[in-house]
Formats: sequence, structure tokens, C-alpha cells
Amino acid sequence: MELLEQRILDEGIVLPGNVLKVDSFLNHQIDPKLSMAMGKELVRLFDGTKIDRVLTVEASGIAIGLTTAFVLGVPLVFARKKSSVLMTEPVYMEKVYSYTKKESAEITVLQKFLPAGENVLLVDDFLANGEAALGMARIVEKAGSEVVGIGIAIEKSFQNGHKRILDAGYHLEALASVASLDDGKVTFVR
Ligand code: 5GP
Repeated sequence: MELLEQRILDEGIVLPGNVLKVDSFLNHQIDPKLSMAMGKELVRLFDGTKIDRVLTVEASGIAIGLTTAFVLGVPLVFARKKSSVLMTEPVYMEKVYSYTKKESAEITVLQKFLPAGENVLLVDDFLANGEAALGMARIVEKAGSEVVGIGIAIEKSFQNGHKRILDAGYHLEALASVASLDDGKVTFVR
């Protein structure tokens, strides 16, 4: 997606450890117009796939998850990373190792928001090692539903997640695929 790639080139900052900082439009400040364009593009990429629900992880997945779900006309559910006193009902929980925080977290979804027998699209802002996406996939499958796709804003194709997700047999689409962050420079897959 050219619009997204251009924003990454204009505003992205490469941090040590192969981390791309895009907090001016995706991870802290959010550009609503770009988020809507990204949601529309994800829906186009999964055209022909029946989708009942979108699942993402708080916090950075919510903007793109919301626009995707809005265009599809289906609910968005976000997995929580911290337990809350509001989670008083049965939950699905999976351990996920955070690439940016370097610690394990339990992602949690109330069972009532993931009914069985649905087709669920997973959405997230970044794909690095695939931990968040595969954790969400395990939750959906525990719930008795099917993961019909994984839609990512920015995938770092040189890390493990891309291969792990394809090896697991999921349909993966990314709006921008980063081939390298070497020498502080963003290069896209062509
Ligand atoms: P994974 O679970 O695929 O290893 O990592 C994806 C998660 O870690 C995303 O939800 C995202 O929040 C965070 N993440 C991974 N790599 C990056 C990155 O380069 N930049 C930012 N901003 N977040 C990242």
C-alpha cells in the first residue's frame, strides 16, 4: 500500500533491535484517514472471504481493527493484555511474548465475545515473530471458530512471524512488507 509505505519513509524511525517507530500515525498519535484507508485495503485484500468478526490486541491494533470491522460491518473485539476487574466472566487466555516489551503477557478475551462457529479475521499493527497473531489464533480455535485470515499493517518479513504464519497454513496479508531495517534505513519487499 503506497500511501502507508510513503508515511513510513517520511516519518518512521528505526530503533535498535529491528524496531520501527511509527508513533506519529499508528502507535501513539493516530491518523484517522490513513487508518480508514488501511481498513478498506485490508477488506479488499480479503475480498471473497466470509468474515463474522475481527479480533485484535490492545492497544495499537485497535485503530486498524476498528476501521476494518467498520468497513466489513462486523464487531471488533480486542484482546486485553492486562487483567481487569471488569473481566468477571469466563475468559480465553493465551501467553504471548511481547517483541517490544521483552516480556510475556497473557492476552485475554471474554468468552462471550467469541462465539463458536464463526469466521474470524485477525488484525494487528505489526508482525515480528508472530507471537501476538498466533496467540490470537489459538484463542479463536479454542473458542471453536476459524481463523480465516491475518491482516497486518506493517510486517517485518525478515523476522520469523511471516514464515511461522504461512507454515501454520493461515492466509496472511500485509499492507507494507519491510525487507530490512539495516543501517537505519527502511527497505520494502518488491
Ligand atoms: P510479534 O508478536 O509478531 O512478535 O510482534 C508484534 C507485536 O509487537 C505487535 O503487536 C506490535 O505491537 C509489536 N511490535 C513488533 N515489532 C514492532 C516494531 O518494529 N515497531 C512497533 N512499533 N511495534 C512492534
